[in-house]
Amino acid sequence: MPWGLDVDLLTPAQRRALDDLLCAGGPRPPADDGLATRIRDLVEERTEAAAALRPVGARGLRLNKTALDALDCEGRYLDHLESRFAWTPPTVLGTLVHRGIELDHAGDRTVEVDEVVAQAWRDFAGAGDSAGAYLAELGGVEAHGLRADAGARIAEFRECFPPLLSHWPVRYEVKLTARLHDGAIELMGKPDLVFGAASATERRLLLVDLKTGRRSHRDRADMRFYALLATLKYRTVPWRVATYYLDEADWDAEDVDADALEAAVRGVADRAVTAARLTWAPPPPDALRLLAGPSCRWCGRAPTCPTKAEADAEWALRDA
Ligand code: SF4
Repeated sequence: MPWGLDVDLLTPAQRRALDDLLCAGGPRPPADDGLATRIRDLVEERTEAAAALRPVGARGLRLNKTALDALDCEGRYLDHLESRFAWTPPTVLGTLVHRGIELDHAGDRTVEVDEVVAQAWRDFAGAGDSAGAYLAELGGVEAHGLRADAGARIAEFRECFPPLLSHWPVRYEVKLTARLHDGAIELMGKPDLVFGAASATERRLLLVDLKTGRRSHRDRADMRFYALLATLKYRTVPWRVATYYLDEADWDAEDVDADALEAAVRGVADRAVTAARLTWAPPPPDALRLLAGPSCRWCGRAPTCPTKAEADAEWALRDA
């Protein structure tokens, strides 16, 4: 009965996640403080060039997963800097679902899904932050649709993921922040779920992001970024990171090692230099390095972007 769960009551999908993803009751690797220290030194060293571009008195760079992903294309990154974030039903959905899963965890899945969603909604609407203000105002068909979508995802999670018993050490949307070079660069992230607690002797942390929709080429890099942030924050290397795809009841997992962390440092350092250049010494528009791809879907420049137009034309020819 690993972690107090009666496995005979689990669905096959739940059992698989328990055994192969969470490895309930299985051994964890020994702590490696030397690696954590080496990675901290490496990230400081590799981001020095980006930090050096900061003009005196300028606010530091704030790089989260969205900003790093936007750096696939320089035009998209500038669009990201210029656009004001606005909540919409799709962007607030994940927040609502994560809160619902958290409530489900606290209540050992004994409450009906509709009531879990309603409580999650009330919690946010009364929280006083921007997501709450948005939900408090939302009504009519949009609100019904959002509740239905959130309920469907929580129900899916219940069916495919093992029950998260209330005594398990699981945390939700834990803030991970690393302040480098006196605040010239701030790295931040919020994995959806963190299993386990930091330990002096073992690497027990498992960081999981829940995703609806299709897999993305950035998912692995995003999770390595979280592994890096957790290493910098807790000064111990996590055991594993994973993206869990709700539509597939399947996941992409990676056991964190030196190679994964070094790749994360290289990725962050390269993108930090680009972000610093674009933020503090932006090139003229015709010198921007544009790359059409999945980012175009979110990009405010898409309607007038010549690179996207060329890429669309090429795709149309291939499909003809
Ligand atoms: S539309 Fe696409 S190619 Fe153009 S700036 Fe945006 S992300 Fe880049």
